[in-house]
Amino acid sequence: MRYACLYELWSMTSPGRKKPISILDSPEAAGAQSLFGLNIQQLTDIVEGFSEPAYRAKQLSEALYRQWEEELPDVSTLPRNLREAMVERGYHIGLPRIVESFVSMDGTERYLIAGNDGQTVETVWMPDGDGGEAGDGSEAETDLRRATICVSSQIGCAVNCQFCLTAKLGILRNLTAGEIAGQVVAVLKRHKVEIGKQRINLVFMGMGEPFLNYDEFIPAVRLLVEEVGIPESRMTVSTSGIVPGILRFAQEPVRPKLAISLNAPNDAARTEIMPITRKWDLAHLIAAVRQVPLRPKERVTFEYVLLGGLNDRQRDADEVGQLLRRANLPLKVNLIVWNPGPGMPYRMSDPHTVHMFQYRLKLNNLAAYVRRPRGRDIFAACGQLKRTTEIKPVQIKPMRLG
Ligand code: SAH
Ligand code: SF4
Repeated sequence: MRYACLYELWSMTSPGRKKPISILDSPEAAGAQSLFGLNIQQLTDIVEGFSEPAYRAKQLSEALYRQWEEELPDVSTLPRNLREAMVERGYHIGLPRIVESFVSMDGTERYLIAGNDGQTVETVWMPDGDGGEAGDGSEAETDLRRATICVSSQIGCAVNCQFCLTAKLGILRNLTAGEIAGQVVAVLKRHKVEIGKQRINLVFMGMGEPFLNYDEFIPAVRLLVEEVGIPESRMTVSTSGIVPGILRFAQEPVRPKLAISLNAPNDAARTEIMPITRKWDLAHLIAAVRQVPLRPKERVTFEYVLLGGLNDRQRDADEVGQLLRRANLPLKVNLIVWNPGPGMPYRMSDPHTVHMFQYRLKLNNLAAYVRRPRGRDIFAACGQLKRTTEIKPVQIKPMRLG
């Protein structure tokens, strides 16, 4: 069973482990060194290696993370001889590229974003709103243009949740910090977003389990907050419940909001659909979540994928209600109607059942919202992300870029 590998995977992603194999370690890119993904200290070390003052690193960082330059020779703030020397030494920017894009009838766009080794990851742009992460209309009054970007943290996933299409890939590899932050910048650039003028939310809810790639995920968050300029309060990371990851996360000085994929009312039912529950049960999971120091007004999101006839009964809702009331945390529940994938033995809950489930949670004094499905027709919705080399989207003709 694949989840049995989690120990190994976790040790791979724990402090002291080697960096994940990057696109830049590929033979195609041998000798090339990507700058995108490096923090200000690492950039400073590089420019000082060229006997340049430290402020050049700041200029380089601005070019990478604010101006979203793609070619080192175009970085006009740096002296020409420095640019030339860096190129000669094998440096390049290495911003991930959008190689293919699919546009949904609802305006959602799904991208395949590639590195130099040709491996692609999936990233989703959801205009006008948060794709249901807030799900409660709390941001409706803003007159800024809003959008949410759903970001991947791994290629594939090792966790093996039975209802999730990404799980079918298994784990192919971790993404580097540059590849995680680079998805965001590639999409911001494509939409010519003006940071500060437009409200951008990030959800780390794409392919993969962020907390099994912790040592690349957190540096990516730091870059996005400190260099790209997206506030951490507009970011949410979702985990299937990797307890050691949650405990580390609780110590982070800079961190997104937390979402937990609950998906079942008790351990027995959860084990059926999320075998990882055998490793970290609900009691340990909730105890770990309680260690995370919440900021004023912050709530933990509990996501609950509704599987028709399986976990969507009113008694399930009442059990979820009791479980979460006992957790005694500021929280909200986001209900997600299951997005179908080929060959999966589940069905979607009907609208009345969804409504009743939400109603029962509210009777239990819980804030409960139904997440609007986005981009289902292009396989961009939750749990549908899987490389299109394997599954072709239906209904909409893919729009090819470049
Ligand atoms: N690996 C992380 C984040 C990515 S999955 C996690 O599991 O939390 C993001 C969300 O999509 C999770 O809440 C997951 O339960 C949900 N999800 C997975 N497959 C789904 C599907 N087919 N339909 C609806 N939601 C799904
Ligand atoms: Fe991985 Fe999340 Fe899918 Fe589970 S739901 S298999 S943790 S991506």
